[in-house]
Amino acid sequence: MKTLIKNCQLISDGINMPNAAILIENDRIADITDAANTTSSDVEKIIDATDLYAMPGFIDIHTHGAHGVHTCDATLEAIEQIAKYKMQNGVTTFCPSTVTMPENVLLDTMKSVEAYRQTGNYAKVAGVHLEGPFLNPKKLGGQNPRFIQEPNIGFIRKLHAISPVAIVSFSPEQPGGYEFTRQLQQLGIIPSAAHSNANYREIGEAIQYGLKHLTHFCNQMTGVHHRDIGAVGAGLLHDELSVEIICDKIHLCPEMIKLIFKCKSMDSIMLMTDSSYLSGLPDGEHELRGLHTSIKDGIIRLANSDTLCGSGLKYNIGLKNVAQITELPLEQLVRTTSLNQALALKLDHIGRLAKNYLADIVLLDKDFEVQHLFINGTMKF
Ligand SMILES: [Zn+2]
Repeated sequence: MKTLIKNCQLISDGINMPNAAILIENDRIADITDAANTTSSDVEKIIDATDLYAMPGFIDIHTHGAHGVHTCDATLEAIEQIAKYKMQNGVTTFCPSTVTMPENVLLDTMKSVEAYRQTGNYAKVAGVHLEGPFLNPKKLGGQNPRFIQEPNIGFIRKLHAISPVAIVSFSPEQPGGYEFTRQLQQLGIIPSAAHSNANYREIGEAIQYGLKHLTHFCNQMTGVHHRDIGAVGAGLLHDELSVEIICDKIHLCPEMIKLIFKCKSMDSIMLMTDSSYLSGLPDGEHELRGLHTSIKDGIIRLANSDTLCGSGLKYNIGLKNVAQITELPLEQLVRTTSLNQALALKLDHIGRLAKNYLADIVLLDKDFEVQHLFINGTMKF
């Protein structure tokens, strides 16, 4: 099966081709050429992508749910529904993300994700992102305090045996947290500091043990003070730390997003959504797993409080916000939506539009609205 996308503006890491053609053969990109030189004799399907960007499909490493269902509902149908919603926002690969829950719920969640990995037909799963339950009680945000526990690698091994765990978000300053960081690394899992009260020295210590990543950077972690620059200062200062950022302009103000892009290399920033199960739902009051929440203009907070509780962000809008705020070229920004994640998660042949790469492609109009999406060479819409 051959498909040709022609007349697109191709954006990939370091590449901005204003009039490109992408030839897809089976699941791979077979060729990329200037559209003017393209022949299409034995092609079965031609997509005219005039006025559209073609970018590598987005990789959302942190997303909890959508349209009223949550990863921790632990059903195949829930994971399917989330995977389908993510596709509509340009996401071709994602990490279904848990919240702090009882152990039996997390075990069942891994089973449902594994069932989806075997049969799923929408966005691909790159492994589960466990947010909690190993969190500092002082920085819980919207996480349920009833089910937090101290770092426990034995429990991670149990979960990982059911379905691959890609990332664990935990507070490294909790008892046993440094050793836990090293053990995650040994299992091939990305250790990521989250909901952390660690000071700068403690984050530095965790880096020695292999800490690689900071979860929803700046949110629910120690801020910059001139006598202790905290976890936020560590993230800005240390090149070896990658930061995942929610670019809805609420979790981080536009100036903070600018500052992050000024301090960090483009290789160490990953856009994600942290989208809650309330994402895609109308404004109003809702129950979030025993917590009372309120949505207004797509922003989700604990009711009667300023505390943010996940987000309602669509991935494509996050990129649009960052492009407007930083004014950086898309061929640089596109690293933060796919390539950095693919490299960190060791996903083979994903994250670029290049010959022999898997044809995971999103076509967006110039307002960043998603028009078409391909996964493994199949046009999903
Ligand atoms: Zn989250």
